[in-house]
Amino acid sequence: MTDLFAILDEDHSRRLSTSALEAAAAAGASHTQVRVESIRSQDVGLRDAELETSSDSTEFGVGVRVLVDGVFGFAATVEREVDDIANLARRAVATARAVARAQRRAVELAAEPNHGEVRWSSPYRIDPTLVSLAEKVELLGRWSRQILEVEGIAHVSANVLCVSEEKHYADSSGTTAFQRRVRLHPAVEAIATHEKAGFESMRTVAPPVGRGWEYLLGEGWDFEAELAQLPANLLEKLHSPSVEAGRYDLVVDPTNLWLTIHESIGHATELDRALGYEAAYAGTSFATPDKLGTLKYGSSVMNVTGDRTAEFGLATTAIDDEGVEGQSFDLIRDGVLVGYQLDRATASVAGRDRSNGCAFADSPLHVPIQRMANVSLQPAPGDGPSTEELIARVDRGIYVVGDKSWSIDMQRYNFQFTGQRFYRIENGALVGQLRDVAYQATTTDFWGAMEAVGGRQTYLLAGAFNCGKGQPGQVAPVSHGCPSALIREVSILNARSEGGR
Ligand SMILES: [Zn+2]
Repeated sequence: MTDLFAILDEDHSRRLSTSALEAAAAAGASHTQVRVESIRSQDVGLRDAELETSSDSTEFGVGVRVLVDGVFGFAATVEREVDDIANLARRAVATARAVARAQRRAVELAAEPNHGEVRWSSPYRIDPTLVSLAEKVELLGRWSRQILEVEGIAHVSANVLCVSEEKHYADSSGTTAFQRRVRLHPAVEAIATHEKAGFESMRTVAPPVGRGWEYLLGEGWDFEAELAQLPANLLEKLHSPSVEAGRYDLVVDPTNLWLTIHESIGHATELDRALGYEAAYAGTSFATPDKLGTLKYGSSVMNVTGDRTAEFGLATTAIDDEGVEGQSFDLIRDGVLVGYQLDRATASVAGRDRSNGCAFADSPLHVPIQRMANVSLQPAPGDGPSTEELIARVDRGIYVVGDKSWSIDMQRYNFQFTGQRFYRIENGALVGQLRDVAYQATTTDFWGAMEAVGGRQTYLLAGAFNCGKGQPGQVAPVSHGCPSALIREVSILNARSEGGR
């Protein structure tokens, strides 16, 4: 097999992890997890077709987490000599001993089998971090100029974030993994101004994905088609009427619905939040463990899974940062809360036999915390309806496309979302755009009013590149798959008059 890594040396990484595992065991650790990582991140941004931002950074480090008499200890370094790493492991053990007095309850890790040696890479053909800056600027410049040429367009910004992550994981149970994750997020936003109509902006709805540079060349998304439509869509929106507040039936496109899933389901079903362990950074959840198996989260067509296995998923991986195999599991079945996202320590608190693989650190220098799997709403089984068929069922409503701003309370219950485009639906047909639309609901009312989900043909894997959690804060990429959905009688606000403009 050819080398999986472009930056890390596999043999040297293995020497470092072996040294850490031996030193930690000798110092008294009952369990040890080691990560040797290199994360290369790039950001290229153009404004009005001129290069404005360019960064290219590589983070290298080694993190060692140990369990000593039921207490976690963690230490990390950017050193890369074998002797340094043995010392690092001893420091992790000393840290566990130092914090032992402050800990009330012993940490227990849910069992996980030894997976031997695992080699895994996310699917990609062209590592985007190896594409030259000139080529990136050339492509984004061409996209920008094509939009700027259209009369009425005032400004265009275009950028692409690219990450290539190489991770060697090893633990004292015998699991060893070499994994590579590649991902990217391109976005183009245009601004139009008009003397009377004011100004509007519109961004592409192409999602971030776990793919290579080929994504920008048309594999998995038709950028040419989206960019060709963008100016006309934006100019139409600029001259559209402002929405009249009230209750409307909504058909929500997956390019918008993924974010509502992320905020109101993804975060709410993180067990550390639900247990109250994670409260500081917009934490906690209304979906507390006493409601497991009974909480009516939504209507009977609502089925939500968490998974670390989806092809091109941003949170997809073979082995998580605690040596747990990537899995797929139910969170909501027929509208009822049936599961949580777990790491090994919270799985044990909840009396589960096994974690479902949701431990992740955003850096070798950070401790793994419970992070989101790809949390996805399942499409209708069999021959489910198309988006057009869902729209045809609505007499008076709004079709919502693309995500924009949002807000939700800490318990993940009261929310408000806007979008990129809103089409008025009249008697089952789209009749032009609206401006200033925001939809507002509580989590259980919104999902409870979901009358139908679209079929497999409407399903899209969208997601976020940088979901924030924890204190100190960490970021994580995550995908959310979903179909289009028909939701009845949702409260619509006029965002402009709410904002006092
Ligand atoms: Zn988030």
